[in-house]
Amino acid sequence: MKPYRVLLYYMYVPIENAEEFAKKHLKFCKELGLKGRILIADEGINGTVSGTIDQTDQYMKTMKEDSRFTDMVFKVDEEESHAFKKMHVRYRKELVTLNLEDDINPNEVTGNYLSPKEFFEAMKSPDTVVIDARNDYEFDIGHFRGAIKPDIKAFRELPQWIKTNKEMLEGKKVLTYCTGGIRCEKFSGWLVREGFEDVGQLHGGIVTYGKDPEVKGELWDGQCYVFDDRITVPINQKEHVIVGKDYYTGEPSERYVNCANPECDKRYISTEENEHKYLRSCSHECRVHPRNLYVQEHGLTEEQVEEKLKQLELENAVK
Ligand SMILES: [Zn+2]
Repeated sequence: MKPYRVLLYYMYVPIENAEEFAKKHLKFCKELGLKGRILIADEGINGTVSGTIDQTDQYMKTMKEDSRFTDMVFKVDEEESHAFKKMHVRYRKELVTLNLEDDINPNEVTGNYLSPKEFFEAMKSPDTVVIDARNDYEFDIGHFRGAIKPDIKAFRELPQWIKTNKEMLEGKKVLTYCTGGIRCEKFSGWLVREGFEDVGQLHGGIVTYGKDPEVKGELWDGQCYVFDDRITVPINQKEHVIVGKDYYTGEPSERYVNCANPECDKRYISTEENEHKYLRSCSHECRVHPRNLYVQEHGLTEEQVEEKLKQLELENAVK
């Protein structure tokens, strides 16, 4: 057994004086010694926290004693260390942003909940369309085999994309999935409200699917992007297909880096070799930025940077 745990959880439930509750909750989490990120809204709570076995046990116990959160499902990963550096609890207007004029309450309307096994079976039917309800950078490192990647940058653009591509879904069974399930609660509810008749959502999200003793993550390719220091977690216990592609060359890679220009900070996939070759920067502008972190970390002199840039220029000229 590993000494730490990461808890992932959410619940759509009305929270009165949510701003005040967020402040108290931060104090409580800090006293326990947890680290992580929790969002509190009038419509509910969404969190990822890490802590020791004792700390996380205490947290789950206390939360379940609160009648609002008694039914909350905690997804638990065992880890060797914390998955965050700090503890944040923030108040937000909504838990997930879909840019809807008329918001969805998942407790009133949402898609059918499918267990991992049911989702697995439904995916294999030819009358099914599987939609990835996440951001593009999450899809790029891993997704269900055959799933549709909506041509959008961020989750909030999804309703408009569906409206534009409606004919693709007509007469089909529509399945949606996301990391832990919270985004699909709203998104699948919106699909139902839009008139799609057969809408299913993966209950518990990708992380639950990966732990299911029967399906064992089958039909998942790549890794699952998570919003903590781990960056990705494995899902498919049966086989490992790499779908991530190096930003510069397109070669297979599952290694995320952040652009060394602190003002850019773009997250992208890069092999270790290309990190060094391209100074861990996403563009020429970022490579020559005066505060480039790669240059600082490696103590490169101006001449050395020049040399690397010249080399890149030469290679690109050859290509
Ligand atoms: Zn950049």
